[in-house]
Amino acid sequence: MPSPPGPRSAEPGSGPRTGPSGKRPPRFLCDAMLAHLARWLRAAGYDAALAPPQACDGTLLEIARREGRILLTCDRSLRAPDVEIRHLPMTGLPELARILREEFGIDWLHAPFSRCLVDNAELEEVGDPIAAGIPEPARRLPGPFTRCPRCGRLFWPGSHVRRMRARLESWKRAPPGPAGGPSRDAFCRKPDSVVPRAGPSRHAR
Ligand SMILES: [Zn+2]
Repeated sequence: MPSPPGPRSAEPGSGPRTGPSGKRPPRFLCDAMLAHLARWLRAAGYDAALAPPQACDGTLLEIARREGRILLTCDRSLRAPDVEIRHLPMTGLPELARILREEFGIDWLHAPFSRCLVDNAELEEVGDPIAAGIPEPARRLPGPFTRCPRCGRLFWPGSHVRRMRARLESWKRAPPGPAGGPSRDAFCRKPDSVVPRAGPSRHAR
Protein backbone atom coordinates (compact mmCIF):
# COMPACT_ATOMS: atom_id res chain seq x y z
CA MET A 1 0.00 0.00 0.00
CA PRO A 2 2.53 2.64 0.96
CA SER A 3 4.85 3.77 -1.73
CA PRO A 4 8.54 3.42 -0.97
CA PRO A 5 10.45 6.66 -0.80
CA GLY A 6 12.35 6.16 -4.01
CA PRO A 7 16.09 5.98 -4.65
CA ARG A 8 18.27 5.35 -1.65
CA SER A 9 20.92 7.62 -0.40
CA ALA A 10 24.51 7.18 -1.36
CA GLU A 11 26.63 5.28 1.11
CA PRO A 12 28.15 7.54 3.74
CA GLY A 13 31.29 9.11 2.50
CA SER A 14 30.67 8.21 -1.11
CA GLY A 15 30.40 11.84 -2.14
CA PRO A 16 27.59 13.88 -3.63
CA ARG A 17 24.94 12.37 -5.82
CA THR A 18 24.84 13.50 -9.39
CA GLY A 19 21.81 14.30 -11.48
CA PRO A 20 20.71 12.45 -14.60
CA SER A 21 23.15 14.45 -16.71
CA GLY A 22 26.05 13.45 -14.47
CA LYS A 23 26.36 17.05 -13.32
CA ARG A 24 26.79 17.60 -9.64
CA PRO A 25 23.45 18.76 -8.20
CA PRO A 26 23.32 22.30 -6.84
CA ARG A 27 23.87 22.84 -3.13
CA PHE A 28 21.98 25.52 -1.31
CA LEU A 29 22.14 27.72 1.73
CA CYS A 30 18.74 29.00 2.82
CA ASP A 31 18.41 32.04 5.01
CA ALA A 32 16.44 31.68 8.22
CA MET A 33 13.22 32.89 6.60
CA LEU A 34 13.39 29.99 4.16
CA ALA A 35 13.70 27.18 6.71
CA HIS A 36 10.59 25.56 5.30
CA LEU A 37 12.03 25.55 1.80
CA ALA A 38 15.27 24.00 3.08
CA ARG A 39 13.29 21.13 4.52
CA TRP A 40 11.52 20.50 1.23
CA LEU A 41 14.77 20.62 -0.70
CA ARG A 42 16.14 18.02 1.71
CA ALA A 43 12.99 15.94 1.24
CA ALA A 44 13.76 15.92 -2.48
CA GLY A 45 17.31 14.81 -1.74
CA TYR A 46 19.20 18.08 -2.21
CA ASP A 47 21.95 19.32 0.04
CA ALA A 48 20.26 22.35 1.61
CA ALA A 49 21.94 23.96 4.59
CA LEU A 50 20.08 26.38 6.80
CA ALA A 51 21.64 29.57 8.05
CA PRO A 52 22.61 29.50 11.72
CA PRO A 53 20.17 31.37 13.95
CA GLN A 54 20.88 35.09 14.09
CA ALA A 55 23.55 34.80 11.41
CA CYS A 56 24.52 38.19 10.02
CA ASP A 57 24.83 38.85 6.29
CA GLY A 58 28.59 38.45 6.42
CA THR A 59 28.30 35.00 7.99
CA LEU A 60 25.76 33.89 5.39
CA LEU A 61 27.97 35.03 2.54
CA GLU A 62 31.03 33.42 4.08
CA ILE A 63 29.31 30.03 4.45
CA ALA A 64 27.98 30.16 0.88
CA ARG A 65 31.39 31.15 -0.44
CA ARG A 66 33.34 28.57 1.57
CA GLU A 67 30.99 25.66 0.84
CA GLY A 68 30.16 26.57 -2.75
CA ARG A 69 26.45 26.95 -2.06
CA ILE A 70 23.83 28.99 -3.84
CA LEU A 71 22.36 31.41 -1.33
CA LEU A 72 18.56 31.51 -1.34
CA THR A 73 17.19 34.54 0.44
CA CYS A 74 14.24 36.87 0.64
CA ASP A 75 16.54 39.76 1.55
CA ARG A 76 16.96 41.82 -1.59
CA SER A 77 19.69 43.91 -0.05
CA LEU A 78 21.99 40.91 0.24
CA ARG A 79 24.56 41.03 -2.54
CA ALA A 80 28.11 39.87 -3.19
CA PRO A 81 30.00 39.63 -6.46
CA ASP A 82 31.57 36.25 -5.67
CA VAL A 83 28.51 34.42 -4.31
CA GLU A 84 25.60 33.12 -6.38
CA ILE A 85 22.50 34.56 -4.77
CA ARG A 86 18.89 34.03 -5.74
CA HIS A 87 16.51 36.56 -4.27
CA LEU A 88 13.20 34.78 -3.91
CA PRO A 89 9.82 36.50 -3.87
CA MET A 90 7.49 36.46 -0.91
CA THR A 91 5.24 33.79 -2.28
CA GLY A 92 3.92 30.30 -1.68
CA LEU A 93 5.75 27.02 -1.82
CA PRO A 94 4.33 25.89 -5.17
CA GLU A 95 5.64 29.02 -6.86
CA LEU A 96 9.02 28.73 -5.16
CA ALA A 97 9.17 25.09 -6.23
CA ARG A 98 8.48 26.15 -9.81
CA ILE A 99 11.16 28.83 -9.72
CA LEU A 100 13.78 26.42 -8.42
CA ARG A 101 12.78 23.78 -10.95
CA GLU A 102 13.02 26.18 -13.87
CA GLU A 103 16.10 28.12 -12.79
CA PHE A 104 18.22 25.41 -11.20
CA GLY A 105 16.80 22.28 -12.82
CA ILE A 106 15.57 20.97 -9.50
CA ASP A 107 13.99 17.56 -9.85
CA TRP A 108 11.61 17.35 -6.93
CA LEU A 109 11.92 13.57 -7.06
CA HIS A 110 15.72 13.64 -7.28
CA ALA A 111 16.34 11.29 -4.33
CA PRO A 112 13.29 11.58 -2.10
CA PHE A 113 13.76 11.09 1.64
CA SER A 114 17.45 10.34 1.43
CA ARG A 115 18.36 13.24 3.75
CA CYS A 116 17.39 14.12 7.28
CA LEU A 117 14.79 16.87 7.12
CA VAL A 118 16.06 18.35 10.35
CA ASP A 119 19.83 18.56 9.87
CA ASN A 120 20.49 17.75 6.19
CA ALA A 121 22.65 14.65 6.85
CA GLU A 122 22.47 11.80 4.36
CA LEU A 123 20.40 8.96 5.79
CA GLU A 124 21.71 5.45 6.20
CA GLU A 125 19.62 2.44 5.50
CA VAL A 126 18.79 0.35 8.55
CA GLY A 127 19.55 -3.34 8.13
CA ASP A 128 17.43 -4.77 10.91
CA PRO A 129 14.34 -2.70 11.73
CA ILE A 130 13.79 -4.51 15.01
CA ALA A 131 17.33 -3.97 16.26
CA ALA A 132 17.18 -0.35 15.09
CA GLY A 133 14.08 0.30 17.19
CA ILE A 134 11.52 0.83 14.44
CA PRO A 135 8.14 0.57 16.21
CA GLU A 136 6.21 -2.61 15.62
CA PRO A 137 3.39 -1.29 13.40
CA ALA A 138 5.85 0.49 11.11
CA ARG A 139 7.91 -2.66 10.64
CA ARG A 140 5.11 -4.06 8.52
CA LEU A 141 5.75 -1.37 5.93
CA PRO A 142 7.82 -2.38 2.92
CA GLY A 143 10.61 0.02 3.87
CA PRO A 144 13.14 1.28 3.36
CA PHE A 145 13.92 2.15 6.96
CA THR A 146 16.60 4.74 7.49
CA ARG A 147 18.47 6.45 10.28
CA CYS A 148 20.17 9.81 10.46
CA PRO A 149 23.81 9.34 11.44
CA ARG A 150 23.86 12.82 12.95
CA CYS A 151 20.76 13.05 15.11
CA GLY A 152 19.71 9.40 15.28
CA ARG A 153 16.18 9.98 14.04
CA LEU A 154 14.54 6.99 12.39
CA PHE A 155 12.45 7.29 9.24
CA TRP A 156 10.04 4.98 7.49
CA PRO A 157 7.57 5.41 4.63
CA GLY A 158 4.49 6.09 6.71
CA SER A 159 1.56 8.31 5.84
CA HIS A 160 3.43 11.57 6.52
CA VAL A 161 6.15 10.61 4.08
CA ARG A 162 3.55 9.55 1.53
CA ARG A 163 1.80 12.90 1.76
CA MET A 164 5.08 14.72 1.36
CA ARG A 165 5.96 12.58 -1.63
CA ALA A 166 2.63 13.39 -3.28
CA ARG A 167 3.45 17.07 -2.90
CA LEU A 168 6.89 16.61 -4.41
CA GLU A 169 5.29 14.79 -7.33
CA SER A 170 2.86 17.64 -7.88
CA TRP A 171 5.75 20.14 -8.02
CA LYS A 172 7.61 17.97 -10.47
CA ARG A 173 4.58 17.77 -12.76
CA ALA A 174 3.34 21.35 -12.36
CA PRO A 175 3.06 23.28 -15.60
CA PRO A 176 5.61 26.01 -16.30
CA GLY A 177 4.81 29.61 -15.58
CA PRO A 178 3.61 31.43 -12.51
CA ALA A 179 1.72 29.17 -10.16
CA GLY A 180 -0.99 31.68 -9.39
CA GLY A 181 0.94 34.25 -7.43
CA PRO A 182 1.15 34.59 -3.66
CA SER A 183 -0.78 31.96 -1.80
CA ARG A 184 -1.94 31.36 1.71
CA ASP A 185 1.19 29.27 2.03
CA ALA A 186 3.09 32.53 2.21
CA PHE A 187 6.66 31.68 2.34
CA CYS A 188 9.17 34.09 3.65
CA ARG A 189 8.50 34.35 7.32
CA LYS A 190 10.17 35.91 10.24
CA PRO A 191 12.78 33.48 11.54
CA ASP A 192 11.09 33.33 14.93
CA SER A 193 8.03 31.75 13.38
CA VAL A 194 9.77 28.87 11.66
CA VAL A 195 12.68 27.69 13.75
CA PRO A 196 12.91 24.96 14.72
CA ARG A 197 9.82 23.00 13.79
CA ALA A 198 11.37 19.58 13.80
CA GLY A 199 10.67 17.51 10.75
CA PRO A 200 8.54 14.45 10.93
CA SER A 201 9.18 14.88 14.63
CA ARG A 202 11.06 12.00 16.12
CA HIS A 203 9.91 9.62 13.44
CA ALA A 204 8.54 10.00 9.97
CA ARG A 205 5.04 8.66 9.73
ZN1 LIG B 1 19.24 14.14 11.49
